[in-house]
Amino acid sequence: MAKDFYQVLGVPDSATADEIKKAYRRLAKQHHPDANPNKPQAAERFKEISEAHAVLADTDKRKQYDHMRRLGAFDGGPRRPGAGSRPGPGSGAEGFDFSDFGGLGLGDIFSSIFGRSGGRRDDAAAEEYETVVEIPFRVAALGGKVPVRLPLTETCRQCGGSGAGPGAKVTTCPECQGRGSVTFGQGGFAVSRPCPQCRGRGRIPSSPCPTCQAAGEVRTEREILLTVAAGTESGAKVRLRGQGQTSRAGGPVGDLVVTFQVQPDRFFHREGLDVICEVPINLAQAVLGSRLRVRTLDGKKVVLKVPPGTQPGRKFRIKGLGIEKGDRKGDQLVQVQVHIPESLTPEQEELLRQFAAATGQTF
Ligand SMILES: [Zn+2]
Ligand SMILES: [Zn+2]
Repeated sequence: MAKDFYQVLGVPDSATADEIKKAYRRLAKQHHPDANPNKPQAAERFKEISEAHAVLADTDKRKQYDHMRRLGAFDGGPRRPGAGSRPGPGSGAEGFDFSDFGGLGLGDIFSSIFGRSGGRRDDAAAEEYETVVEIPFRVAALGGKVPVRLPLTETCRQCGGSGAGPGAKVTTCPECQGRGSVTFGQGGFAVSRPCPQCRGRGRIPSSPCPTCQAAGEVRTEREILLTVAAGTESGAKVRLRGQGQTSRAGGPVGDLVVTFQVQPDRFFHREGLDVICEVPINLAQAVLGSRLRVRTLDGKKVVLKVPPGTQPGRKFRIKGLGIEKGDRKGDQLVQVQVHIPESLTPEQEELLRQFAAATGQTF
């Protein structure tokens, strides 16, 4: 519950500007969060003090505040057209409750009344939308496009946004008398907001639309094609201005922030701009040499010459077939794995024994 600003500063409502300033300085010093590191309630108190001072130290704002206070706008809750006045919690001359103002917080009241930058609400509505998108290894390496599905709120097709069920009778909203907005406060302090009962439409259907439950809008998805730059790595982010739209048209639109997650590939892995693959060869290929056809990133094949006497695990570098990023270009590294036969026929075994004997090997 918000407190009376005079009470917060501990001054009478007849206090002079100088008295208000002095009271503020003394209390601000006493309750400053830096001076009370272990007291979380000090920060709250400090905020109250600052808020009270911001209004009471400004001649115009204080005049408006005093006027509003005299009108008893805080006593018994808001006066809503059509609803009559109703007793509000915390009624009393000194303790009024802003929180009952139709669900608006203190900050909202004052941004409306005193023209504070109402940015907080707008920013919140235009919040950026963050998502993680998995991309295939090859798309990440070579660049390309991936489809991304994003949530979207759009007008309900069944009711055309009216929120009315089929054949429903539509009557004027009793809360706002068809205006679509409700106003509270008095004199120069009228604060207007969309009517909560009819959601700003001014009309109320006798039965709600079954598709959107009277919301007039439905949550769907939209698909966009996202461009992936060549050489994109896991954790890389892109920001798309104004693409985070998840609210209905006309509302503030935030950015879409995509974090890429690169899927592993069965054949390739990356080291910087180089791509590495393993290729199995047999004993004869390793001993006698061979020509291998090796798959490259772009799906084509190149011939790799394996010289006689190639050792297991040896890496061959194919220049320029790695990832291209700006003016840098990586290579493709081919690591050969020599496959040793696990079983031999008696003839094969005999031949291998002869081979070993001929080369002076013992076994
Ligand atoms: Zn209404
Ligand atoms: Zn609908």
